[in-house]
Amino acid sequence: MSQTKTRKPQEFYDEVKQKFAQERDLRLNFRPEGTQQFNSELTGNLARYEVDTYAEPAKPREPLNDFVECLFIGGGFSALLTSARLREKGVESIRIVERGADVGGTWYWNRYPGIACDVVSYDYLPLLDEMDYVPKKHYAEGPEIYSHCQEIAKRYDLYDLAVFQTTVTSTVWDEAEEVWHVKTDRGDHMRAKFVICANGPMCKPKLSRISGIEDFKGHSFHTSRWDYAYTGQNLEKLQDKVVGIIGTGASAVQIVPEVAKTAKHLYVFQRTPSSIDFRDDWPTDPNWARKLKPGWQAERRQRTIDSQKKTPEQIERDKKISREEKIRLQEAANIDHMMRIHRRIEKEVHDPATAEALKPWYMYMCKRPCFHNDYLPVFNRPNVTLVDTHGKGITEINERGPVFDGQTYELDVLIYATGFEVQKTGIYNEIRGVGGRELNEKYEEGIRTLLGIHSQGYPNMFIMAGYQASFQFNLTDMLYQQGDHIARCVDYVRSNGYSTLDVSEKSEEWWVQEVISHRGKTNRNAECTPGYYNFEGEFNRRQDGNYNGGFDKYIEHMEDIDSHMENHFNFTRK
Ligand code: NDP
Repeated sequence: MSQTKTRKPQEFYDEVKQKFAQERDLRLNFRPEGTQQFNSELTGNLARYEVDTYAEPAKPREPLNDFVECLFIGGGFSALLTSARLREKGVESIRIVERGADVGGTWYWNRYPGIACDVVSYDYLPLLDEMDYVPKKHYAEGPEIYSHCQEIAKRYDLYDLAVFQTTVTSTVWDEAEEVWHVKTDRGDHMRAKFVICANGPMCKPKLSRISGIEDFKGHSFHTSRWDYAYTGQNLEKLQDKVVGIIGTGASAVQIVPEVAKTAKHLYVFQRTPSSIDFRDDWPTDPNWARKLKPGWQAERRQRTIDSQKKTPEQIERDKKISREEKIRLQEAANIDHMMRIHRRIEKEVHDPATAEALKPWYMYMCKRPCFHNDYLPVFNRPNVTLVDTHGKGITEINERGPVFDGQTYELDVLIYATGFEVQKTGIYNEIRGVGGRELNEKYEEGIRTLLGIHSQGYPNMFIMAGYQASFQFNLTDMLYQQGDHIARCVDYVRSNGYSTLDVSEKSEEWWVQEVISHRGKTNRNAECTPGYYNFEGEFNRRQDGNYNGGFDKYIEHMEDIDSHMENHFNFTRK
């Protein structure tokens, strides 16, 4: 987002900010229950929304009762990346325990039509140097990413010990034996020296708590469990179907243009519009790919990290303007960007009322920005209707379909694009550390970690992509850092003849304070429209969020910790 050369009068920006505030308040008033408006405990009749639609039901197998050195809970990018690093350090015994029937994580579960990643593929796909692979396009499609994950698992021999269609139910530390006891829903009782919680920041589908949700008599499913048996592989079975989609986040933005191609009619139920920008995609140029030198992806990553650091000139320039003026400049640039997004909507959407309803009224990055070239024009099609709920959302469903403003929208199939529970990574099973203390219990007064990875009293356990780490739009950048660090920790324990590593209380407390000191430095979270970035308006959460000190600083701290392990961890020797 660059600054425009001609800055408008300050009154213009103040007026827009006022409109942002009104729209935020409107939404906050509709959902005072914050994150509780969602349900991710999908039990009873709702359990079907979590059933794997991509694999046959699990075949019976003998429970496992063995020992591995490193055990990953989850088989997505976190596990794949870190396993590669562990192999490089000579670790042989690695097991992935995964709920799905294969590796891939988010790319296993999300197979909806139109799925792609809107982070540049050359940065997003992990281990491109190691795999000697160049993605086919600037933005990779879901199937390519999923099969890349499978290739990584093959290359690093991760299928050998992996167990699929298996959910970890408890992870309990045995102080005498110095091992983790890991139990699963398949009756396994495995032991592991190191456990890595790699279950991803958004792995549990959630539904909005809507009255009458279970009364709907038509078909329904969640975007992360696409029902191709119902829709047909190319959505050809939707030709005589009236389809509804609740939600207009990043998933819906990719799905809507695809469903619109075949559905008899599509209703899109919108609560808050996403910001939709142009997606500049192209097939990878074979000549460019051929010229890439070994290590090209690592170099790109380093350039990204370096670009976040301020140059001495920027630091000097910053010193010359007041904090207030700096914020004003940033806000003006942000608003200019959003107004450009608005103008694009006016150009793409013919009906002025629909165009108006599609305009996002909040600062850029209050919600995850989306990039798609076909989403906006889809609303010009006669078979597509935007049902704008003016910030209220769908609150009622009857046996025929969603109800808004007294009208029932009769549907054959209802698709929930209502997202996922966010960043509970590490606490999806009963985790008991030293003294039998459960991790949720420890976190009752607030999350406590070092780097978001280590929590005191949980020796030889590592948490990936959880809170108190540095959130990155390209999550892979962060996972690389964490994976490298975890492999270094494991290697340090092994090569020094130690048996366990546990973060010291002092270091954990230092990090918690570091996280707190960087939160609440601006009013941004409070001023943003509600969404998962600001905990649906429960913005005042002290340490229960990301580390906001900057990615370069996060890396700096990590490197410092890596070179002074003895200062930060307690070790035992057997
Ligand atoms: P999101 O949480 O982003 O979106 C959920 C949507 O459901 C929002 O539009 C929300 O509205 C809406 N909603 C919730 N309850 C109701 C209701 N009662 N009535 C009407 N609307 C409702 O989920 P997604 O699955 O779209 O995306 C999750 C994340 O997955 C993304 O943010 C992104 O990080 C990742 N992703 C990444 C992609 C990529 O290309 N890299 C592609 C797809 C997903 P409101 O905004 O008002 O809360």
